[in-house]
Amino acid sequence: MTVPRKIGLIAACALGGLMASPAFAQQPAPAPTRQELAGKPWMNTHLSAAERTQLVLKEMTQEEKLRLVMGYFGTDLDGKHYKRPKESLHQSAGFVYGIPRLGIPNQWQTDAGVGVASQRGPNVRERTSLPSGMNTAATWNPEVGFAGGAMIGAEARSSGFNEMLAGGVNLVREPRNGRNFEYGGEDPLLAGTIVGAQIKGIQSNHIISTLKHYALNDQETGRNFLNVEIDDAAARMSDLLAFQIANEQGNPGSVMCSYNRLDGIYACENPYLLNEVLKGDWGFKGFVMSDWGATHSTVQAANNGLDQQSGVPFDKSRYFGDALGEAVANGWVPQKRLDDMAGRVLYAMFEHKLIDDPVTGPKNNIDFAAHAKVTQNDAEEGMVLLKNDNALLPIKTGLKKIAIIGSHADVGVLSGGGSSQVYPVGGMAVKGLGPDSFPGPTVYFPSSPLKAIQARAGGAQVTFNDGSDPAVAARLAASSDLVIVFAHQWTAEAFDVPNLSLPDNQDALIAAVAKANPHTAVVLETGGAVLMPWLKDVGAVLEAWYPGTSGGEAIGRVLFGEVNPSGHLPITFPASEQQLPRPVLDGDPKKPELRFDVNYSEGAAVGYKWFDLKGLKPLFPFGYGLSYTSFSYDGLAAHWADGQLTVSFTIKNTGAVAGKDVAQVYVASPKGSWEAPKRLGAFQKLALKPGESRKVSVKVDPRLLAMYQSKDKTWKIASGEYQVTVARSALDPQASVAVKLPATTVDVNGK
Ligand code: BGC
Repeated sequence: MTVPRKIGLIAACALGGLMASPAFAQQPAPAPTRQELAGKPWMNTHLSAAERTQLVLKEMTQEEKLRLVMGYFGTDLDGKHYKRPKESLHQSAGFVYGIPRLGIPNQWQTDAGVGVASQRGPNVRERTSLPSGMNTAATWNPEVGFAGGAMIGAEARSSGFNEMLAGGVNLVREPRNGRNFEYGGEDPLLAGTIVGAQIKGIQSNHIISTLKHYALNDQETGRNFLNVEIDDAAARMSDLLAFQIANEQGNPGSVMCSYNRLDGIYACENPYLLNEVLKGDWGFKGFVMSDWGATHSTVQAANNGLDQQSGVPFDKSRYFGDALGEAVANGWVPQKRLDDMAGRVLYAMFEHKLIDDPVTGPKNNIDFAAHAKVTQNDAEEGMVLLKNDNALLPIKTGLKKIAIIGSHADVGVLSGGGSSQVYPVGGMAVKGLGPDSFPGPTVYFPSSPLKAIQARAGGAQVTFNDGSDPAVAARLAASSDLVIVFAHQWTAEAFDVPNLSLPDNQDALIAAVAKANPHTAVVLETGGAVLMPWLKDVGAVLEAWYPGTSGGEAIGRVLFGEVNPSGHLPITFPASEQQLPRPVLDGDPKKPELRFDVNYSEGAAVGYKWFDLKGLKPLFPFGYGLSYTSFSYDGLAAHWADGQLTVSFTIKNTGAVAGKDVAQVYVASPKGSWEAPKRLGAFQKLALKPGESRKVSVKVDPRLLAMYQSKDKTWKIASGEYQVTVARSALDPQASVAVKLPATTVDVNGK
């Protein structure tokens, strides 16, 4: 596989000796102690973050302000003569100098959404990995999102970092996007809610989390140059809504602008995205940092809303170093704007307590055993049981021979690659896998599904076959009572998958095995949706995504019914690429510098909305997921009062085992006047014992009942009769009720 290299970006840059010494000299005087700083007005914790920001800004020199908006890469790049600042943490993503004399700490920045990552190299830090963001979205449980965020945030803090570049909420608009595994799925409400909860969890550690990649960075092919075209209203009701909701619910200290262009203008110097929407309409008070290599100018970027240049060796120039100082001196960038840029960084640091509760270096005090349980719970709640004919699962007792086939299931579970790569405690389960450069290597976490199955298999003989020869695997399958085939699809930053088929001849492997023994269950470890030409021939399918540090154990528990699966798809699984708005992906992976347009003419009809609109039948719909028990719904009622739609119903566990259900409320407009027939309006996950029933009451965000109006920046609900449906997936309605809504207008933030 040819993979564009991240450092290829640098190769393209005409950079002379890029040493990481700060553009402006450090203060020579020794830093005051915290006691000495205690009496300073900006250290008064009774004042607001905004007041404290203004007080400390007054004390700062121009050079200090400039220092706060200039970010370095935390990793040496030998070929480019770049040395990381000595105060940065090795193999880390980023570093920004603080102002010790004023008590403003350095910013130590680490990737990312599944845990504390390391840049590739010889001395990676070994940390706990959550399952993929896709898995966490599949839990439909914000509490799980929060718990995972709190856990990885604690590890970041223990590792000496006070900023996590975590909070990826790009909508899954393009199922082949190599980074979909990092994100929260295709629906703005679900993605925004889960990612918002994760951000909140991370920041509960008094560190900053970063909402990213803002915005419309929905494919990796050509990501540095492609130009997105989409109508304002359509963007506000889709990709931007996911960011808006995550911002409201998570209150991130920073937002990372993305690589791509929108309407011809790079996201990191795009006045519409940064000044108008994010800071203006949504009132975002924190700072905007650029993605690594996404700053392209000084004056334009600063004036159009970028607050901090990041990962400087990835850009063509130190745009926010001396150049920014000169631009201010020459009046091209107003002094007020530089004060605002530095002020926003300070605001986020006060607001999230980086100054009052500073991180004081790596501590090595991580409770890995406790954290393994947090990630295991996430994995267990996010796995989606897609098929289970004749109750093949959970695995029954009394079997004599079980065959386990493929995907290194004897030793570990797969993870997604790129800058978000967390390296496993205890080392990689499979060594020597490529690619040799970014975004490699392919990493398997040492949590063995085989061992987890053996431990639960009673007297059964459990045999592993690596799946490399379908005929040999089929022979083992034929002589077994039950076969579990593991299938993998490695996805990573910097490239998209060429199609939705499983790679490495795995469809042929599964087909051969299923032919030899129909008692075959397939466990998928994929970044997102894949095609399943063998689906009708297998008994069961469990989508386990990238299940993280304790993934093998989690898979074992779900397969044996110690955990009842309760994950539901946060994306649509298409039946073929032909069903997609773009059957062929735009751009050319062999020409990463090609400039081309990606026209999102489907607008806000993303994922299931597109499938509904076009009457297409997917392989598996959004929201889909089976359980070992069953649920019924009763008493659906919807009522409108005080500008708010409330929906209530009762759910009952009608089966024999305890389980968790995800009740999904879909709303539909009177005359099909929306971008698509229906939208997810609300959801609720809840645990029920056998026979137990509970009443659920959820509120529908008015924006999800409205059309966005670009001309006056409002959301308008048209008067009329709306359908409210409670469902178990986008295509599995359980009950519907009509409700009359009066014409209603809410502001840009749905208020
Ligand atoms: C990625 C970001 C990441 C940054 C720092 C970029 O390549 O797009 O998500 O935070 O690198 O590693």
